[in-house]
Amino acid sequence: MTQLPLRAQLASALGRTAATLSRATGRGDGSVIGGRVGLALEPDLLRKLARDRRLALVSATNGKTTTTRLITSALQELGDVATNAFGANMPAGHVSALSSAKDAPYGVLEVDEKYLPEVIETTGAGVVVLMNLSRDQMDRAAEIWLLAQKWRRALVARNTHVIANADDPLVAWGASTAARVTWVSVGQPWKEDSWCCPECGGPLDRGGMDYVPPGGHAPGVAVRQADGGVPAAPGSPAGPGGLAENDWACRECSFRRPAPSWFLDGDTVVDPRGQRWPLDIRLPGRANRANAVVALATAEAFGLPVQRALPRLAEVTSVAGRYTTVEREGRQARLLLAKNPAGWLEAFDVLDPALPVILSVNAQGPDGRDTSWLWDVDYRVLRGRPVYVTGERRLDLALRLDVAEVPFQLTESFGHALAVQPPGKVDVIANYTAFQQIRSEFGRAV
Ligand SMILES: [Zn+2]
Repeated sequence: MTQLPLRAQLASALGRTAATLSRATGRGDGSVIGGRVGLALEPDLLRKLARDRRLALVSATNGKTTTTRLITSALQELGDVATNAFGANMPAGHVSALSSAKDAPYGVLEVDEKYLPEVIETTGAGVVVLMNLSRDQMDRAAEIWLLAQKWRRALVARNTHVIANADDPLVAWGASTAARVTWVSVGQPWKEDSWCCPECGGPLDRGGMDYVPPGGHAPGVAVRQADGGVPAAPGSPAGPGGLAENDWACRECSFRRPAPSWFLDGDTVVDPRGQRWPLDIRLPGRANRANAVVALATAEAFGLPVQRALPRLAEVTSVAGRYTTVEREGRQARLLLAKNPAGWLEAFDVLDPALPVILSVNAQGPDGRDTSWLWDVDYRVLRGRPVYVTGERRLDLALRLDVAEVPFQLTESFGHALAVQPPGKVDVIANYTAFQQIRSEFGRAV
């Protein structure tokens, strides 16, 4: 690698010192403060640190931290990899990640969806990975459409290789201005944000309508239709036009799903040559198998074949505390993070049906202060197992579960919820700050 200019070297070194001080004084892992110090001294630091490396940027509403981790693990087969492992996914975090691995020839950076255009421009990354776009706690449909439009503008006329989920119409639209796209098919369980064509606003026909939309967002609607079959979503009658599962097409313009070259098929991945590989990974659930397929396609874009990448994916057992277990007095609680409606759907898929579940919901800044998103989640899947509700906004969740006719027990804290369990295993789904509180109070992974 070429040497950084003196000013950038200095900025980078001072940033690292600030990060060390921040860690030493117990203020988190220091990656954001370190990056901010570096950027204050040298505004062009990220561009300079990115130069001469092979970079992948990973963006999505859900799964970007895990997929970043999986791709990093795979690329370590090729050499050292710089990465923002702690989810500091804005430019200050990127500066910190690249600066703390100065000589790594590879970089895998998780990027906040809103910052992606800026980070593509600044780093000139050769590979961009786009997985899904859905409402976060505070976003609404129009905002994520605007985001996808910004992705389109950022990718046009660049020599970027995009790896994108063809099954998510908004992602497909956002990626389709890129000169080169490897399309993967990893499904889109959460379809609530994509009933309309992003190109023309017309209705989208969807194949394989195995998902039951909760029937709009009005409180109670989902429950009244609990046994009434599939409520018709706007413009999407069940089983339209003979579309296969995961396929979609606009009814009014030519926009339709691009042909994917990688597929997730149950527990196997099918590569572009049609070869099937069992997805032997340690992270649980459908969403993580999807993340693994994306990671394998990305690894191949770096020249790493499946047979070398796959064993590396199996080495990842937890990601920033997700899927780890905390223990107290004989109760082992497995922690699942769900930050938005699509994330809850993925967490439900990972739950062990034989175990009780503790749900914890807060509404602090990073969670979104408004808990109306709870009404977008179909909680009926939790019927038939013991459910415990806690967190600062437990009453909001309790009302939602009551309307969905899910029996539950209200508890004043996570500690209480855990204490009333019989000894043994329990699953926990928590949103962002609730998750962090549990981790800090109950310690790191067992
Ligand atoms: Zn259309």
